[in-house]
Amino acid sequence: MRNFGMKCSRCRAPADHRFPAHNARFCDDCLILFVNRQVERAIKQFDMLEPGQTVAVAVSGGKDSLALWDVLHELGYETKAVHLVLDLPDFGPQSLEACQAMAHRLGQELHISDVKELSGLSMDELWRGSHREYCSVCGTMKRYYLNRLCHDLGCEVLATGHNLDDEAGRLLGNLIRRNERHLLRQWPVLEGMSADVGPGLSKKIKPLCRLSVDELKIYAKIRDLPVAHGSCPRNRGATLLYYQEAMDFLDQNMPGTKRNMYFGFLDEKGGPPPSPDPVGRCQVCAAPSHAEVCIACRLILRAKKRGAKAAKGQKNRSGSV
Ligand code: AMP
Ligand code: ZN
Repeated sequence: MRNFGMKCSRCRAPADHRFPAHNARFCDDCLILFVNRQVERAIKQFDMLEPGQTVAVAVSGGKDSLALWDVLHELGYETKAVHLVLDLPDFGPQSLEACQAMAHRLGQELHISDVKELSGLSMDELWRGSHREYCSVCGTMKRYYLNRLCHDLGCEVLATGHNLDDEAGRLLGNLIRRNERHLLRQWPVLEGMSADVGPGLSKKIKPLCRLSVDELKIYAKIRDLPVAHGSCPRNRGATLLYYQEAMDFLDQNMPGTKRNMYFGFLDEKGGPPPSPDPVGRCQVCAAPSHAEVCIACRLILRAKKRGAKAAKGQKNRSGSV
């Protein structure tokens, strides 16, 4: 809805978008410029990319990762987009179609991999009996395969669409749970680790960390990005959502709280976490791992064992009739 009388903080043209967190109002053009500048600023501030470096962009089909791909492309970075098919009912096909439409629009290739083909198991099978939250299992598998895909594409850096709301919500959760290990590693860049044999760890970057969900929603709308609508059918009850809601409540009543809390935390920290210690390799897949078998392989092995046991039980039952 047009807000008559409101003027853009930058160019004084009539403005439709108001952001109390930084006391700014923008017209469409200046909002796009603002988003581009915030991404550029994050890249510089946190040493995310070097000029001319090719970056793998993890695209889910949601507004954040499509906006990320759009902005990086617009800023002149060479991008290789990767999409992981997660086999989630209803949501999965929509997500893939959205990524394909975006690839078509940018005239770029989309690299697609399927978790079921890679692991031999659906995400539901991987989760069942794992005693972990669905999102945690899904997150582990995504990190694992996206890292590998990035390596296979010859990229050293993997960019994801995590935004300010994701990071502030995660920070609140880590503080409440006093999760020292996660607090230590919470930074918009995690350095990678090269490897002589097998895949290493790609550098992970979050170029949207300075932008809120609201800013990205409007950006996606103005740019008419082919975003997949709806949300993941499996994330209901995920604890991160409660932390994000709590941050929303605080920000609505005290604009700027999210930003101040997250950037205050980063300022106090002063710099990135120490580079990862040299680690061993997973005995199953050769990925870097602190344990003999990496977490992803443990989830896969456990689910396969459970599947085999269930199949044996079924066979015994039908044999004993
Ligand atoms: P989420 O963990 O679902 O909030 O997603 C965070 C980020 O991870 C997204 O912005 C994407 O960059 C990336 N991502 C999530 N799902 C996928 C997927 N299926 N394929 C590729 N990247 C993904
Ligand atoms: Zn492994």
